Amino acid sequence: MKNILILLFLFFTMAAQAQNKVVLVIHGGAGTITPENMTPELERIYRQKLSEALEKGYAVLERGGTSLEAVTTAIQIMEESPLFNAGRGAVFTHAGRNELDASIMDGKTGQAGAVAGVTTIKSPILAAQAVMQKSPHVMLTGTGAEEFAREQGLEQVENSYFFDQRRFDQLKRLQQLEQGKDKEGSLKDPEWGLFEGKKFGTVGAVALDSQGNLAAGTSTGGMTNKRWGRVGDSPIIGAGTYANNQSCAVSATGHGEFFIRNVVAYDVAARMKYQGLSLQNAAEEVVMKTLKEQGGEGGIIAVDNKGNIAMPFNTSGMYRGYMNQKGKPQVFIFQEKK
Ligand code: ASP
Repeated sequence: MKNILILLFLFFTMAAQAQNKVVLVIHGGAGTITPENMTPELERIYRQKLSEALEKGYAVLERGGTSLEAVTTAIQIMEESPLFNAGRGAVFTHAGRNELDASIMDGKTGQAGAVAGVTTIKSPILAAQAVMQKSPHVMLTGTGAEEFAREQGLEQVENSYFFDQRRFDQLKRLQQLEQGKDKEGSLKDPEWGLFEGKKFGTVGAVALDSQGNLAAGTSTGGMTNKRWGRVGDSPIIGAGTYANNQSCAVSATGHGEFFIRNVVAYDVAARMKYQGLSLQNAAEEVVMKTLKEQGGEGGIIAVDNKGNIAMPFNTSGMYRGYMNQKGKPQVFIFQEKK
C-alpha cells in the first residue's frame, strides 16, 4: 500500500512538472519607433522576424528543452537578421567597424558568461554561452575572446560580414551632425523613416522552461559612433542581463550608460526579493521611474519563476513579443498593450 502511495505521489509530481508553464519573451530594441516613422512593409518584416524568433525559441521549450537553449535559439535568429543591432546589422563604431557585445545567465546555477568588443565571432551569444560553460571566467574581451571562441570551434567571420549599408549611412549622418554639417531634420532615412540613431536595436530573450528554470541573454552592436572601446550594459551581468530562479530573468535595451549606473536588470530582481514587489511593479519602478527621471531611455523584458511577464519601456516603441501556452507568437512594436 505504502509503495503504491509513493508511486502515485511520484506520478503526480512528474505530471505537474511536465505541465509547468513555459514562456519565452524577446525584444529587438527600443527607441523612437512610431507608426509614422515606419512603412507598413517594414513593420510587416519586423513582425515576421520577431514571430520567427519566438516560434523557434518556443519550440525548444515545448519539446522540454532548457531556457538557456531557447534564449540562444531566439537570439541567434535576430543576430542573423540585419533588422537588428546585433550580429549582422550591428551599428558602426566611430572608426567604421563593428564591435559586438553579448551576455547570458543561467537562473538555476547563477552561472554567467559574456563577451565584449568582439569583431570576428559570428554569433556573440554563442560565445557568451561558451564562456559560461567552458571557461572559468565570466567575461572575455576583444582578441582574447576571439581566440577563446576559435579554440571552442565557434564560427569566425570577417568583420565585413557585419557590414550593412544602412547602418553605415547612419554613422556618416551622425558624424556629420556632430560636426555641425547637418541638421537633425535631414536625418530621415528615405526608406527606413526617422534616423535610427535614436533607436536602440539590441536583441534579447528571457525564458522559463518546463523544469522551472529561468535564463536571460542579450546581444548587441552597442551604440552608433561609439569609440575608445566603449562597452555598454548588454554584456554586463546585472546591468543588461540577469537571471535568478528565485526571482526573474531580465534583458535590457536602451542607453547603456544609464543601465550600467542603475544596475537595471539586477535592480528588478532585487526589488522582487527585498521589497516583495510583483514582477510588473518591480519592472515598472525601474524603467518608468528610476531610469525615466534620469533621462535613461530604453526598456526591458522580464519573466518571473511563475511565468508572469513584463515588457515596460519609456521610449515611443520597443520591438517585443512573447509566446506561452496559448500557442501563438504575440508581437508588439508601438504603444499597444499586451
Ligand atoms: N544597450 C545597448 C548599449 O548601450 C544599446 C541598445 O540597447 O541598442 O550598448
